[in-house]
Amino acid sequence: MALLKNTGSLLSATYRAVTRGRPSVWAPWSTRERLFTGIRRLGGVSIENQPSFGFLFDIDGVLVRGRSPIPAAVKAFKKLSDCHGKLQVPVVFVTNSGNCLRKTRAEELSAVLQVEISQDQVVLSHSPLCMLPQFHKKRVLVSGQGPVHEIANNLGFQDIVTIDALREAFPLLDMVDHNRRPKEKPPLTVDFSPIEAVVLFGEPIRWETSLQLITDVLLSGGNPVTWLSPPPYPHIPVLACNMDLMWMAEAKMPRFGHGTFLICLEHIYKKMTGRELKYEALVGKPSIVTYSYAEHLIRQQSEQHGWALPIQRLYAIGDNPMADIYGANLYNQHLKTIHQEGLQAKGGHADVEAMNHAHPSFGCLENFSGNHAQSCTSILVCTGVYRNHGDVPSDPNESVTETVFHGHRDFHFDPSLVEASSIVQDVSEAVDLVFQKENWCPV
Ligand SMILES: [Mg+2]
Repeated sequence: MALLKNTGSLLSATYRAVTRGRPSVWAPWSTRERLFTGIRRLGGVSIENQPSFGFLFDIDGVLVRGRSPIPAAVKAFKKLSDCHGKLQVPVVFVTNSGNCLRKTRAEELSAVLQVEISQDQVVLSHSPLCMLPQFHKKRVLVSGQGPVHEIANNLGFQDIVTIDALREAFPLLDMVDHNRRPKEKPPLTVDFSPIEAVVLFGEPIRWETSLQLITDVLLSGGNPVTWLSPPPYPHIPVLACNMDLMWMAEAKMPRFGHGTFLICLEHIYKKMTGRELKYEALVGKPSIVTYSYAEHLIRQQSEQHGWALPIQRLYAIGDNPMADIYGANLYNQHLKTIHQEGLQAKGGHADVEAMNHAHPSFGCLENFSGNHAQSCTSILVCTGVYRNHGDVPSDPNESVTETVFHGHRDFHFDPSLVEASSIVQDVSEAVDLVFQKENWCPV
């Protein structure tokens, strides 16, 4: 493995030297033939058949609708696999869902796509939080559904309080549902250690309960016995995952996503305090952090396969213009900035600070060192949100952002970012398109 790694570095360096000045263009075959003499079968695959590109697939609306697979997805993954059923190119699944563990999602995908998928190929909305160790030792309140305690634990959080546990500690706080009110007056909780941060994984089941308890925690400085006056500001850190306003399940109309829940929380907080709710981190698509984490996993996968060529081009396939296409295009812009300004070579702290201002969780990108791809190309499919919901403003000069911009409050609306590089019918056509662009002949 070490030998392979060293050979890979040498090969990468040589490749870079040959392609200098035209970074996204392949060296002519004759030159490559000479370069690769003697190392033509790295990783058991001849160098001609090793990929220098990778796929980022969205899941809902691209591969599945609710629990039902989209037929084109199986076709697409047949094209991506070799005769032994192994993927021939690096693939990660980047989804804004987050109510499960990566392992569970990988098992579901394996069953649907009939290809073995590992948890290291899955980026859920909350996965990049593992790169924020500064919060892992804080006492955190977690909101969402599914195994939230286990999810938080897997990400590195050590002192976790769920909404249910908080409700149990303070039974008089949750009063909307009369049937859930305590029948008798409960004893006072006196030994509660204050919450130090709030982590919002995804849409919870009983919104009124979560909205009430999170507001109580923010207005009380972490110990929901009484609201402080004036309310502490800045409030304790809030980390949020998945900003999607809508998502596509089996119904013909899009459904409320976590973005809708966040809007409720932001408005309640502002109404109560007169101030803006602030996020320490916003992760999940379209956040740059999520794409950077996905690229990190693509490189890791390529290395594990023993594929020696550096990954130069990423293709992000999704159904939601405001999440998948906006995110891929934003990341493409970010990659261009890195390469144009030599951010990598300089360490890029000034640029990181500037980006951190625009994108609150950008600072953790310093944890992703190493090379970056040259580009991230967005491909929109018509099997999900896009087909059913024309949310791309046709005229950017009109004041349409208030009524149709479905992105998050803290993301600047740039109409050009919701335009996909290509629009195709389904994921199978998207794979064909990429193979054609890459002149790639699957074995
Ligand atoms: Mg989707």
